[in-house]
Amino acid sequence: MNLDKLKTHAYVNGQWTSAASGKTFQVFNPATSEVIASVPDMDREDVRKAIDAADAAWHHYRDLTAKERAAIMRRWFNLMIEHKEQLAYIMTIESGKVMSESQGEVVYGASFIEWFAEEAKRTYGDVIPPHANDKRLVVIKQSIGVVAAITPWNFPLAMITRKVGPALAAGCPVVIKPPSETPLTALYISQLAEEAGFPAGVYNTITSSQSSETGKELCENPKVRKLSFTGSTSVGKILMSQCSSTLKKLSLELGGNAPFIVFDDADLDEAVKGALVSKYRHNGQTCVCVNRLLVQDKVYDEFVEKFTSAVQALKTGNVLATDVQVGPLINEKGLKKVQEHIDDAVAKGAHITTGGKKLEGLFFQPTVLSNATTEMIIAHEEVFGPVAPIFRFHTEQDAIQMANNTEYGLAAYFYSKDVSRCWRVAEALEYGMVGINEGLISTEVAPFGGIKESGFGREGSKYGMDYFMEMKYMCFGGIR
Ligand code: NAP
Repeated sequence: MNLDKLKTHAYVNGQWTSAASGKTFQVFNPATSEVIASVPDMDREDVRKAIDAADAAWHHYRDLTAKERAAIMRRWFNLMIEHKEQLAYIMTIESGKVMSESQGEVVYGASFIEWFAEEAKRTYGDVIPPHANDKRLVVIKQSIGVVAAITPWNFPLAMITRKVGPALAAGCPVVIKPPSETPLTALYISQLAEEAGFPAGVYNTITSSQSSETGKELCENPKVRKLSFTGSTSVGKILMSQCSSTLKKLSLELGGNAPFIVFDDADLDEAVKGALVSKYRHNGQTCVCVNRLLVQDKVYDEFVEKFTSAVQALKTGNVLATDVQVGPLINEKGLKKVQEHIDDAVAKGAHITTGGKKLEGLFFQPTVLSNATTEMIIAHEEVFGPVAPIFRFHTEQDAIQMANNTEYGLAAYFYSKDVSRCWRVAEALEYGMVGINEGLISTEVAPFGGIKESGFGREGSKYGMDYFMEMKYMCFGGIR
């Protein structure tokens, strides 16, 4: 596989374009530290031009019928699936995500385009029984306007499609600012979007390493009517305050601190499988990755033993090999955080049952810590790496209290065979999403999102489109 066909310019107003300053920045392969490509380093003025282009395209695009928009989206979906291997390759070399997971992300990411192409035709309004005989009351839904999307590196494709799927279906042009670590996947799907036939200005991708400057323009420009952000809680808070000047509509998909509770009536082998896939997906670098394993007294030792041997069987190494499950961390900062969390936990009494050491480059051994306690940093902060701390609890109430003791509220998981307990615990967990006897919960057909400091808004599902539409109430008077 090669990068010959990959365009390394930004895509604005239907043109492949450089930064006005002529500046570029480099993109690295985290598995080898090699430079893969250079892309335009756009500034605030470049972003303004992209927003102007999107705004100019809005009126024509929103007037297409839903069926016409859906047809373009369906072509784009087909192209992504057709180019699955090439897309997965690009994603793997720029993000360090292992090949099998990248292939999975292409299918997952593309599914949002297929789903919302179908939903485009179902943005129904309402007819309300009137309060007076001479009136008729109707509600319609209309596209919100230009949508800005700022996305993270851990899902280089799916975090874009989860936002632009509903936006494009609703009739909104988009300006996408992918992360500086993984702009190439974003550019490749822009090529496919061009081929699918979006009108000029409807689909724009700007590349930049000056994220705070470009972010300010996306937040403060009044032509942008909606900002959808996925990333850290700290950056989400900055964006929210910047958006206040224009009272811009916002969706924030932020950090998590997912608990994974194993009750003593659980099927332990299933719980081990669920925890493994949820913890070590993309090397622990997803927002819904397990951050804390909470295991009940009676099964604690047995679970630690079984989970440790399952983790020891994980294969780390060449990210392009289809049988490798664990790749590198994204950067030095990520690696340092992993080491700091382990050092802190060990100093406070945790025991390393496997792993614990840095490997070559940005690779780190998949690690399990037993005897974890709530005094440790890892109990409160997202580790975003391959470290699984295992905490002990006594009663169901203890588990719920420990699980909820965080400012985050994105995803939670638990394993139990008791149906009453399943309902009780699922209802008591203060999270936007709960996996019950299940470690993988993401799908385009269900609402994805968090509560508390994990953000607000939902992506995917029949609810996803509403965040890109305004409701308009029309009152017809004088009806006789
Ligand atoms: P991040 O540092 O917040 O970056 C996310 C995006 O924001 C990137 O495009 C980044 O650009 C940009 N950015 C950074 N500072 C900015 C600023 N001051 N103004 C405007 N834009 C700015 O997060 P990350 O490290 O890439 O991603 C990991 C985080 O995302 C984790 O906390 C994870 O839990 C969260 N996440 C949440 C979800 C969810 O659905 N809830 C999904 C995936 C990830 P540059 O890279 O160019 O700086």
